Amino acid sequence: MRNEEMLLIPGPTPVVDSIYDALASETRSHTDPRFVAIYKSAIEKVRQMLKTDGEVFVISGSGTIAMEMALVNTVAAGEKLLVISHGYFGDRFINLGQAFGIEVDVLQAEWGKQVNPVEVEKKLSEGNFKAVTITHADTSTGVATNLDVLVPIIKEAGALVILDGVCATAAMEEDMNKTYGDVDAKIDVVLTGSQKAIGVPPGLAIVAFNQSALEAREKIERVPAYYCDIYNWIPIMNDPSKYFATPPVNLIYAFEEGMRLVLEEGMENRYKRHFAYGRAVRAGLAEYGMKAIANEEVAAATLSCILYPEGINDAAFRSALAEKGLIVAGALAHLSGKAFRIGHMGNTTVEMLERALVLIGETLNEQGFSVNTNKAVEKFQEYALAVKN
Ligand SMILES: *Cc1c(COP(=O)(O)O)cnc(C)c1O
Repeated sequence: MRNEEMLLIPGPTPVVDSIYDALASETRSHTDPRFVAIYKSAIEKVRQMLKTDGEVFVISGSGTIAMEMALVNTVAAGEKLLVISHGYFGDRFINLGQAFGIEVDVLQAEWGKQVNPVEVEKKLSEGNFKAVTITHADTSTGVATNLDVLVPIIKEAGALVILDGVCATAAMEEDMNKTYGDVDAKIDVVLTGSQKAIGVPPGLAIVAFNQSALEAREKIERVPAYYCDIYNWIPIMNDPSKYFATPPVNLIYAFEEGMRLVLEEGMENRYKRHFAYGRAVRAGLAEYGMKAIANEEVAAATLSCILYPEGINDAAFRSALAEKGLIVAGALAHLSGKAFRIGHMGNTTVEMLERALVLIGETLNEQGFSVNTNKAVEKFQEYALAVKN
């Protein structure tokens, strides 16, 4: 791999050579049939990944644009939105909704825990919620959402399910054709970005709408957006030789290759691999006395938020790791300085994660802790072995 450092943050994630090669291909006209074919193929691959018969959008922008596109096309000003939040990125939907005059209600979990489904049911019984946002894996806490429990509750209440998959899509199951318990209980909107579990550099927003979500758009007379109005994009997504706004040609090359790798590995394999990665990383770190803030039952497959043992200085610890070529992220909000976040998703390999575990152990030893890296690696391998790639 061309990368000189191991970028194990919760996105962007390590980029493999074939994706770099695609990115560095000749920039062509956005209407050149050779580019149009690649754009078409990228859109089609997203459709396959999410198993949707609705509309798929692949546009310039980060995950936040995808969140905005999902929301403004389904919920009108004055309508009610329920935000289920497991941390910083869940909370982002509160500000987003308020920016568009949407009436936002929120259920926030204590960081590291899940929102109680009984409270969701109670809240929804107040009536008239147009949609509910769920963050599949909250990148601030490493908490995953239990879709099997929440999707039926939300659909039962007649609201749309908007799923933020920015840190989950392509690594944790998001099947828009799957019925959750009830006949009609399906995920209505999935949104994501290119730079997390898909493993492509940042810059693309990806959104999928099913038929119910498209009907919601139809009922909104005037969407308070131009770039994010899906009606400006549907003709382009169905025929990418048409023009609305110039697509990021090189990034689409890279994304098409990234999606090729995703489908080549297969969704089931990817879900299993990421699940094993998450458990393995956390089991290894636990040997150092480092605990995730999320219990194993609610922990995300894609990233972990790990509390420091007493006596670690966050900045010093992370810069020592950076000198060894391992980049991890600091924690957000009130956990800042008290924890770090490690990503284990996308095109990350078992070898990288094992090496990261060793480097973390070495750094702990250098900073006066006495930890056993061999034991941590053993624990790691116990869980990771099943998916050696
Ligand atoms: C990263 C992230 C976002 C924001 O994506 P950007 O690409 O930074 O705009 C939103 N939701 C979740 C769950 C994320 O992990």
